[in-house]
Amino acid sequence: MTKFIFITGGVVSSLGKGIISSSLASLLKLSKYKVRIRKLDPYLNIDPGTMNPSQHGEVFVTNDGAETDMDLGHYERFTGIISKKSDNITTGKVYSEVLRKERKGDYLGSTVQVIPHVTNEIKNFIKRDLNKEDFVICEIGGTVGDIESLPFLEALRQLRNDLGKSQTLFIHLTLVPFISSANEFKTKPTQHSVKELLGLGIQPDILLCRTEKQFSRDSKKKIALFCNLSFDSVIMVENAKTIYEIPLKLNKEGLVNQVFSHFSIKNKRTLDLNLWKNFISKFSNLKKEVNVAIVGKYTNLSESYKSLNEALFHSGIYNNTKVKISWIDSRTLVDDYKSLKILEKYDGILVPGGFGKDGSEGKINSIKFAKNSKTPFLGICFGMQLAIIESVRNIKGFEKSSSTEFGITKLPVISMMHEWVKNKKILKQDLENLGGSMRLGAYESILKKGTLIYSIYKKTKIFERHRHRYEVNYNYQKVIKKSGIILSGISPNGKLVEVMERNDHPWFIGVQFHPELKSTPFKPHPIFNSFIAALIKFNIEKNK
Ligand code: GLN
Repeated sequence: MTKFIFITGGVVSSLGKGIISSSLASLLKLSKYKVRIRKLDPYLNIDPGTMNPSQHGEVFVTNDGAETDMDLGHYERFTGIISKKSDNITTGKVYSEVLRKERKGDYLGSTVQVIPHVTNEIKNFIKRDLNKEDFVICEIGGTVGDIESLPFLEALRQLRNDLGKSQTLFIHLTLVPFISSANEFKTKPTQHSVKELLGLGIQPDILLCRTEKQFSRDSKKKIALFCNLSFDSVIMVENAKTIYEIPLKLNKEGLVNQVFSHFSIKNKRTLDLNLWKNFISKFSNLKKEVNVAIVGKYTNLSESYKSLNEALFHSGIYNNTKVKISWIDSRTLVDDYKSLKILEKYDGILVPGGFGKDGSEGKINSIKFAKNSKTPFLGICFGMQLAIIESVRNIKGFEKSSSTEFGITKLPVISMMHEWVKNKKILKQDLENLGGSMRLGAYESILKKGTLIYSIYKKTKIFERHRHRYEVNYNYQKVIKKSGIILSGISPNGKLVEVMERNDHPWFIGVQFHPELKSTPFKPHPIFNSFIAALIKFNIEKNK
């Protein structure tokens, strides 16, 4: 029978519930159990697609085309388990379902209320679309005590009642701060947070305590005593050098044993941790270093480009190299020698996905710099669109080429193509609603043999994830090619540009999709592997 593990957080946000959930999922998967991981987000948006990434972090896109919380990215990276639309539930989704049912007359005769109608819907979402999983891990967004999360916690309380202890487990993550003036760890915030949960009818079964450094057995005893727990179910989560160390740390602290003992699982399957051990040992012995400049608008928060950060890190390890990332605000890059000089010290330039006119000319300037200086360049989604605009603008008569995303233009080299093909069906673009109406999810591309991109993938048919509204306008294919661009990847119907490269540059690639969404520590993405290798080569040549 499927067992449900609920992970809540208390005291403060950003304690790393997503990493904890991913790590536990990885440990269970490596113990050869079938696992799914879900995120319950209490905010009112249907999905994070319309939110500002500098506020909420990256929007992670699934193969089946859902725009989801960035924690789903961690889940995939740690476990390799491919997330689905049904793995991210928000208050917005729950309420729209309840209201749809109300209009249809499904609740005829009753007053529609949070309990039971909303809580029932949350329970349905949690149990929906499963396929004989041994464990379903559900992370609850936010911090216990938030108004928005109340219906979710109430639904979980009911689920414990419906399914019993043998099928449900509550894990609560808190903070045990060290107060240097008193030279003491403080357990009070944890006690208060557990009290808050108890007030909602939930007694945690396992407590995970985030801490800067190991705290004493006495503090652990105190927490156990005050929070109604056995000594062994209070588990320390010490800060780590990398998030990828957490599975090993949690296992060492006995988390998996506690989970098994809660569910009375006796015949434990062997847990093979070699994957993680090898990765960490490689991470601790990096021999080389390269510097990459990421030119973007949301440069204040690396959370906005989480998957990209991680993909570069994974491919760095694959290449035995530490990748140092500098975020450059494109709004500072005007087209003159002095402002672009800052880019000279980098071994590679990356222009990632982005939206809107603001800062786009600076990005184009950095692309021109990469092109002329033969610095390795990777343009992702918006980055590719801008690389095409940069190139075409050099052709006489096309100096004013632009994207319709920036307003009306006579030369719309990038524009909305209004339709695309998926599974042999023509999908029309929704021009009225902004939420969920981009080209989203995995699409097929056909790569041209003999090109750089083909040498990277070593196959002609690839599937990568998309998230964009605009496309390269195929009416301009001729002039694009004339400007020195090879269209090395296209959609199966030949209409949409998926990959471009330059014939006058050693490593210059633009992709319409987001390869970073599929990179994992154990399967780093071939595009990033090749990009980092190009940076290493460029760095050696530069320093000769
Ligand atoms: N703004 C561009 C579009 O909508 C690119 C989006 C992106 O980079 N993800 O097409």
